[in-house]
Amino acid sequence: MEENPNFDVNSVGNGGKNPDFDENSIGNGDENQAGIGSNSITNEEGSISEMGQENEEKKTRIVQTDIGAKNGQNKCPKCGSTSIALSIKKGLLRCNYCRFEFAPEKVEGWVTDIKSLNNEVRGSGTSDIAKGASDVVTFKCSSCGAEVVVDTASSNQARCHWCRSILSVNQQIPNGAVPDMILPFKLPKDEAKKEIEKFVGKRKFFANPTFAKEFTTQNIMGVYFPYMVVDINSHAHLAGQGEKKIRSYGTSDRKYYDAELYDVDREFDLTIEGLTIESNADRLKSGSDKTNNIINTIMPFDVENSVKYDSNYLSGYSSEKRTTNINDLEEMVNKQAKDIARYQANSTIQQYTRGVKWESEELDIKGRQWKTAYLPVWLYSYQQVKGQSKQLHYVAVNARTKETMGSVPIHMPKLLGITAVIEIIIFLIALLWDVSWFFLIIGPIFFAIIYSRYRNAGKRHYHERETKANISNIKKTDEYVETKTKLPNAMMEGANNASVMGGFGMFK
Ligand SMILES: [Zn+2]
Ligand SMILES: [Zn+2]
Repeated sequence: MEENPNFDVNSVGNGGKNPDFDENSIGNGDENQAGIGSNSITNEEGSISEMGQENEEKKTRIVQTDIGAKNGQNKCPKCGSTSIALSIKKGLLRCNYCRFEFAPEKVEGWVTDIKSLNNEVRGSGTSDIAKGASDVVTFKCSSCGAEVVVDTASSNQARCHWCRSILSVNQQIPNGAVPDMILPFKLPKDEAKKEIEKFVGKRKFFANPTFAKEFTTQNIMGVYFPYMVVDINSHAHLAGQGEKKIRSYGTSDRKYYDAELYDVDREFDLTIEGLTIESNADRLKSGSDKTNNIINTIMPFDVENSVKYDSNYLSGYSSEKRTTNINDLEEMVNKQAKDIARYQANSTIQQYTRGVKWESEELDIKGRQWKTAYLPVWLYSYQQVKGQSKQLHYVAVNARTKETMGSVPIHMPKLLGITAVIEIIIFLIALLWDVSWFFLIIGPIFFAIIYSRYRNAGKRHYHERETKANISNIKKTDEYVETKTKLPNAMMEGANNASVMGGFGMFK
């Protein structure tokens, strides 16, 4: 069963503890937040230690991503209109009056060959959110002189209520509202509606009746969510022991295994491209009132197709601004990078049929590149009211890949009732025909399957295998230690090569 009530996106980064962004104690403390130098991640319960104390000048290069961006009226160069919006079909911005289309701009200055990435590179849109920075930006409209207020918490545009011009926030301000890049919507609203209807349609039988009655895709919203996109150039070193099965014997009740034990050592260069982390603190949290994992699950996005940020892409869509800084997300990034290293190492240890138990895992990070991005999601949300408590359910559609995931509120009396009927029938069969009581397990299994199919509470984004990664310069050492006999288990005791850090379960 995939159900994991402790599911928490953030438990990857915090070792299962509750997320607390203010007290983040990552080795890279305040005084040197500018860079990573020769940090290495060690295996001691996820702690990160600073290896080289020499600390040669932390080299951080900032890529300015809002060059040429202007606040205020963003005019069509042909007709001067400020009404410009995304044309989904072509992925271009288009003037709503004269239909002039704008070629999307790319940001210059990123490192694209991750193998050559050194030290720390950061987009100017990743700068720390200033304490007390206001969400509200006020402009003087250049057409009529009126003061226009833009609340960047939900939008980076506002219409002047006097002259109807649209005013945009395109320059980065230290409040997290303007990212380095944006991935435009590609999936039209009608197609997103169909996906959501299909998803809910398959889950109608046990759906909460109020939900089933109220369900409509009329009000689905297109939302740009904020993410941190990270590229990593690193060197991994894993050491431990592995077992190869030689034979098994015994009876069907009691099986035994003989295995050869080896010391296993692997070293390789590892590049990771476009590791994507949610950067709104509210969605990094989980709780009984939230189904945040749903939005996490629809990753990955084709972040490599992102373009230079322009508020006009937001026209007609909602947006949510970033509320976390690099320091808050760093520990999670490092843990996920180590998961990727472990996952990649599996291709080099296939001879160890009983698994490998890694005892030391080091990831030396040679370079990292951080970018902030707005990524597009179609969102259906439904608030379920249960007496005093409220729970927010979502169905989310990745507006690039169509990947859809959701949580549908369950009609518990019906599910429990049918589970009870199943149990009674099995009970009677067992009683009358002397069938094993073991079959009573079918009821709980049925319940769990339906629950997980409707709520998807244990679903997550498989960062370890869905993130682009490449290994090279592989060095292998395998040394025979001994042959073990009469082992009681089919898999090596303590084998961890197939699990992710943070209690998420097995790789798939
Ligand atoms: Zn125009
Ligand atoms: Zn005006």
